[in-house]
Amino acid sequence: MKLSKVVAASAAVLALTATATACGSDNKDDSGSSGGGKIKVGIKYDQPGLGLKQPDGSFAGFDVDVATYVAKELGYKPSQIDFVETKSADRENALARGDVKFIAATYSITDERKAKVDFAGPYLLAHQDLLVKADSKIAKGDDLNGKKLCSVTGSTSAQNVQKTIAPKANLRQYSGYSECIAGLQSGAVDAVTTDDSILAGFAAQDKYKGQFKLAGLKLSNENYGIGNKKGDSALEKKINAALTKMVGDGAWDAAVKKNFGPAEYKNEPAPKIGVIVK
Ligand code: GLU
Repeated sequence: MKLSKVVAASAAVLALTATATACGSDNKDDSGSSGGGKIKVGIKYDQPGLGLKQPDGSFAGFDVDVATYVAKELGYKPSQIDFVETKSADRENALARGDVKFIAATYSITDERKAKVDFAGPYLLAHQDLLVKADSKIAKGDDLNGKKLCSVTGSTSAQNVQKTIAPKANLRQYSGYSECIAGLQSGAVDAVTTDDSILAGFAAQDKYKGQFKLAGLKLSNENYGIGNKKGDSALEKKINAALTKMVGDGAWDAAVKKNFGPAEYKNEPAPKIGVIVK
C-alpha cells in the first residue's frame, strides 16, 4: 500500500515534469500575440546610450528601445522580453544556435556576416571613430601606427584597423568596449576604436566626463541591422515593417533624443529600410 502510493506519486511528478518540459519548448520564443510566452532578444550590456544593463537590473539604450518596439510589433509586451547579452564575437553563433530570436546590438550589416545570418534594417548609420585622452595628440588613423589601440574581438572596428586604418598599430582585442575604456583611463592603451555612437556614450558618462575626446574621423559606414536566423524571411519582413512603422510614427526620433541627447551624439537621419550606405 505504502509502496504503491510512492510509485503513484512519482508517476504524477514525472507526468508533471513532462508537461512542464513540453510547455517550455512549445513556448520558446513564439507565442507572443497568443499569450504569456517570452521572447529572447540579444543586446549589449555594457554600451551606454545603446545597450546598458543598469544597477537595478533593467536595460536602457537606443538598441533596447528599438528591440522593445520590434518585439511589441511581433506581439510581445515589454514584460515578455528576456534581454540576453550578445557580445560582438558571439552574435552569429547565438542566432545560429537559437539562443535569441533577434539581435539589436550595434550589429553592422556586412557581406561576411550575411553569409551566416540575415539582417532586417538598417535602423541607424554610425561611423567608426577614435576615442583618446583629452590631451592626446592622436588625431588621425596614421597617428595610431606603433601606438596601443584597443577594440573588440569579432567587431568590424578591429577588422578595419588591421586591414586599412592602421595595420601597424599595436591592437589589443578585448571582449567588450567597457574593458577598452577602462584601459584608456588607466593608460594601458592610447586609443579606443569603434563606432562614434558607442564612443560618445562612454565619453558622456559622469565618471569619464572631460577626460576623453572623439577624433570625429568617420572612418567607415556602420549600418546597424537587426540580426535574425538565416532563412527566416517571414521574421525579417515583420521586423522591417516594425522598423518602418517606428520611423513613421515618431518613436524612432523619440528614442534618438532620449538615448543620444545626453551624449550630444549627432546621429545621421533615419536610414531607408533595405538601403545600405557603403
Ligand atoms: N558596429 C560594429 C560591429 O558590428 C562595432 C560595434 C560592435 O562591436 O558591436 O562590429
